[in-house]
Amino acid sequence: MNFRIRLASFFVAALVVMQGLTAFLVYRVTRSELIGEGQRQLDVAARAFAGQLDELSNRVSASVQVLAFDFALRSAIAQRDHATVVSALRNHGMRVGAKRMLLVGVDGRVEADTDGKFAPGAAFPFTDLTTRALEAPASAITAWEGRAYWVVVVPVSAPDLVGFIAAAIPVDDRLLERLQRQSALPKRIELATRGRDGQWHIVAQGGGDADVDVTPALAALSPSLATRPAVIEVEGREYVAQAVPLSHSQQSAPVAAVLGYSVDAALQPYRSVGAAWAVLLGLGLLVGLMVAFFIARSVSRPVEALADAARRIADGDDSVVPPSHDRGDELGQLSGAFSHMVQALREREARIRHQAGHDLVTGLPNRMAAEAAIGRALEASPSARAALLMIGLARLPEIINTMGHVVSDRLMADAAARIAPLAGDGLVARATDDEFSVFLPAATRSEAVSIALRFVEALSEPYRESEFTLDLQPAIGIALSPKHGGEASTLLRRAEVALLGAMGTEEPVALYDPTTDPHRPERLSLMSDLRKVLEGPGVHGELSLMYQPKLHLPTGRIDGAEGLLRWRHPVAGPLAPDAFIALAEETGNIRRLTRWVLGAGIEQAGRWQAAGDDLRLSLNVSARDLDDVDLPRRVAGLLAAHGVSPSRIVLEITESAIMGKPETAITVLRRLAEQGIELAIDDFGVGQSSFAYLRRLPVRELKIDRTFIANLAHSREDRAIVRSIADLGHDLGYRVTAEGVEDAYAVELLRDMGCDYAQGYQVGRPLTADAFLSLVSSTAGVEA
Ligand code: C2E
Ligand code: CA
Ligand code: CA
Repeated sequence: MNFRIRLASFFVAALVVMQGLTAFLVYRVTRSELIGEGQRQLDVAARAFAGQLDELSNRVSASVQVLAFDFALRSAIAQRDHATVVSALRNHGMRVGAKRMLLVGVDGRVEADTDGKFAPGAAFPFTDLTTRALEAPASAITAWEGRAYWVVVVPVSAPDLVGFIAAAIPVDDRLLERLQRQSALPKRIELATRGRDGQWHIVAQGGGDADVDVTPALAALSPSLATRPAVIEVEGREYVAQAVPLSHSQQSAPVAAVLGYSVDAALQPYRSVGAAWAVLLGLGLLVGLMVAFFIARSVSRPVEALADAARRIADGDDSVVPPSHDRGDELGQLSGAFSHMVQALREREARIRHQAGHDLVTGLPNRMAAEAAIGRALEASPSARAALLMIGLARLPEIINTMGHVVSDRLMADAAARIAPLAGDGLVARATDDEFSVFLPAATRSEAVSIALRFVEALSEPYRESEFTLDLQPAIGIALSPKHGGEASTLLRRAEVALLGAMGTEEPVALYDPTTDPHRPERLSLMSDLRKVLEGPGVHGELSLMYQPKLHLPTGRIDGAEGLLRWRHPVAGPLAPDAFIALAEETGNIRRLTRWVLGAGIEQAGRWQAAGDDLRLSLNVSARDLDDVDLPRRVAGLLAAHGVSPSRIVLEITESAIMGKPETAITVLRRLAEQGIELAIDDFGVGQSSFAYLRRLPVRELKIDRTFIANLAHSREDRAIVRSIADLGHDLGYRVTAEGVEDAYAVELLRDMGCDYAQGYQVGRPLTADAFLSLVSSTAGVEA
């Protein structure tokens, strides 16, 4: 049941109850008032009725007395002229209204009867009256032959008493009606006699409802009939009734007049009032109902509107405007509060959405938001040209590592501020911690490149704070749509691939090149092949280690090797590590691969040691392996298993791999060093590492990158670099190895510069274990 119906029903119920109560009260008061009125009327009527009977009796007895003095009658009596007597009596009786006249002898015997019912000589029944008549005319009511009579007895003297004349006036319906007409008697008069059975029998009644007998109901109340007004119910109608005992002859059964006052009849005039009231109530109800309905509606409409709005807002309908009501009442307050709430909710949601889609540091959209926006733009015009630029700051990982996030955040915000004004209608976003993406709708390749160059220019200016200046080293990768992809995620990834390419070169802007993309589908299938190889039993068949000799320059002996991984792919043939190492790193397979390399390499070292060959083996470890806190334990386990002393194993880590590494990686390196394993920095010189940074690490060897060695013979600059690295390295206690040594002259130069080891094709290509061993023994023989 909704609010409106409930409210309306309440109004109506209240109205009905109030009206009903009022009606009931009015009825009760009126009724008791009427009953009181009835009692008063009955009281008066009872007295009036007695008075009327007295008057009647006086009138009759006066008249009968006149007759008693009538000479003719007296002489007829004296002469016992029966016929004359009867006719005189009849004539006279008719005049006074006595239906029956009797002549009673002094001895109490009936001498004449106008009705002729008494046999001559029969006894007159009401002797008390004849006795009383000796003094004065006597009268009383009698129950006689089933009727009521008012009997008046008058003596006849001539001059001595000769008899009595008895006049019997029937107190019947007609008489009662006449009396009623003469005075204000109640409508209902009943005359009742008490029979031998003790019951009251009605012998006459006057007017009123002929079918209603009040006497039996009154007698039921009290057998002797109440002489005070009593309320009784007769056939569903209410009466106030009262008995008036009439003085009766002692020889007669008691006779009483019962007066009844009909409350219902008295209420009759009020009935029409009641009907009018009922009509009014009906009208009132109708009006009340309508008013209640309208009031309820004016209350419930706004509430329903609010509820409806709330429901739709809950269903996620953003277009809903909360209904506002310019009213001063509680509903107005409620709708005001509701609107406020909705607005606050929407603001908060918008804030959360903004936060979810934006980078807090730069205020730019984040990658997710950018991807969605780019996706929408591409979907809107799939064939249109567009370019996605990925801007990276190569130095950022190092800056974060050395200066912390507070500085790097400020730097990124500054970089964002430089990029944004140049982007035009492009969408600038922060793609990763150290990358921005700029989506340029409708940009051609050359436009994209020229905008990219402008970004590079803007970012080439170092970032300055009062105490320091930081070089950002920007690089930009570009992917073009639709050429390089029609989806946002593809474009982002490919721009990132291009960026990685740009970071490794002198050229700061690079276009995506599918041939170098590590995510190329064929490379991915290569990965699943590698995973199968690592999991399957055929590991040793497809994977192998080659050993590239290392020449100890001061002695000219080969006393070590670097283990280099080879994969003989069943379809693609022999694969160099460059073809799959980076991919294994990206796809999370590198740890397993390293595990295999360590196992194979340490096993080989164990064989050498067992054979008494004093050889050191260097193995390559990737940056991702340093996140593996289990690595030191595993290496220790392998050393123990193959009986290898730790000093025979060197682990090579590229310079870039340890830059910007978290503490856990450094802890792993320290653990390994504590076990006696030596660490070498691979590809030294091309990265950004400083000697100062390396001092924190337990490094034992530096391997100068082969780019510095390749032109050693021709480049003075390279010679200077290699010499200073060697000198500084020695000063700091490092062993120094030169990689990529391809000619004999370089070997001489390196020896002169004081390098410790030379590694390269000049010394020896990566060889199988057997080939390597024979090379070792042959050179050992030569030197010796
Ligand atoms: P790297 O550690 O710098 O290894 C030396 C690379 O230079 C080897 O290439 C080697 O064949 C090549 N090389 C040796 N002497 C010369 C020379 O005189 N001139 C020229 N131009 N090149 C020379 P490779 O075997 O293709 O390995 C490439 C890279 O793959 C390695 O660079 C290393 O970083 C990585 N790698 C190799 N094996 C493993 C491994 O088992 N685990 C891991 N994580 N990385 C490995
Ligand atoms: Ca290496
Ligand atoms: Ca190297």
